[in-house]
Amino acid sequence: MTQIIAHNRPLITAEDQAAVAEALASGWVAQGPRVEGLEADFQAMLGGGEGCALSSGTAALFLALHGLAVKSGDVVALPTYTCSALLNAIHMAGAVPQPVDVKLDDFTLDPERLPRQAKVAMAVHCYGASADVAGLKQHGARVIEDCCQSLGGPQGGAGDAAVFSFYATKIITGGQGGMVTDPTGEVAARARDYREFDCRESYAPRFNLQMTDIQAAMIRSQFSRLGAIKARRRKIYAAYLEALGGREKVQAGLGDQALLPYRFVIRTEDEARRDRLLTHFKESGVGVIIPLERYELLHRYLGLDPYDFPNAERLADTTLSLPLYPALADAEVERVSRALKEIP
Ligand SMILES: *Cc1c(COP(=O)(O)O)cnc(C)c1O
Repeated sequence: MTQIIAHNRPLITAEDQAAVAEALASGWVAQGPRVEGLEADFQAMLGGGEGCALSSGTAALFLALHGLAVKSGDVVALPTYTCSALLNAIHMAGAVPQPVDVKLDDFTLDPERLPRQAKVAMAVHCYGASADVAGLKQHGARVIEDCCQSLGGPQGGAGDAAVFSFYATKIITGGQGGMVTDPTGEVAARARDYREFDCRESYAPRFNLQMTDIQAAMIRSQFSRLGAIKARRRKIYAAYLEALGGREKVQAGLGDQALLPYRFVIRTEDEARRDRLLTHFKESGVGVIIPLERYELLHRYLGLDPYDFPNAERLADTTLSLPLYPALADAEVERVSRALKEIP
């Protein structure tokens, strides 16, 4: 029997391993010069501002809220079609989450539905597709760009802060890790103060949310290949699109060559058709997933009426995601493409 192609898998090269070995040999394993180097890498990528490396993307979301002086009771809008990390960060900050429905075509938060009382909006660049940051700003909200699925694309410089994740299944990884950036450096400065509690002159509640130099060594090594990672992802994305030949819809908003596609998501007419395709890909040995299940939608977690979130509900019922990552061998890309051509 042929092996099932995993839905996701990190690519860890000999250079990454050498970078980690070098960090270990240096004897400096906690937050140190490599973390500082990674922050400088992000500053260079974004063409200015400041970055603060952290232990996770969730920590970065929390400290972005903290950095924007979000207080207890402030309303923070977020797409309901996203992972619960955002909800956790908002609760940690003592703020009030307000899930908003997304657009059916590109899965991003719809600015037209933004509640007026929202002080901050979390703009998730879903699977690499750009959320409408300018539209959200026009509605008077401060914007945190969630770039956890769009690193390597053009996003991250238009909002009041941006966050990134280096978890194992993300675009680049150090096992775990995160980063918050902002154009003025104010948010990064507040995050830098918060992430380290030891030996401080005056007391304020802080927490240990630091990244290690071991992680930073691996992430920096991967970061130096970001151009190649993006090119490989775009190539696989284009191959799948051609194999599909327009017989099913895909997530919109990823056509532009400047964007980094994080997932290849098919959107079917209805749930029965989606389930039929799930079976087809499983039978073809392709590791396929439902990117977000109904029960994971944030409005459901919060006990809100699903009737008010029709697009997210529909997406949960009609989408499936195929393997799209640089560790795929050419032969595996071929196999997925063949399965796409053979869609019943
Ligand atoms: C992964 C992810 C996060 C959380 O990052 P962690 O490093 O796992 O805490 C937040 N937002 C989005 C959109 C993500 O994909």
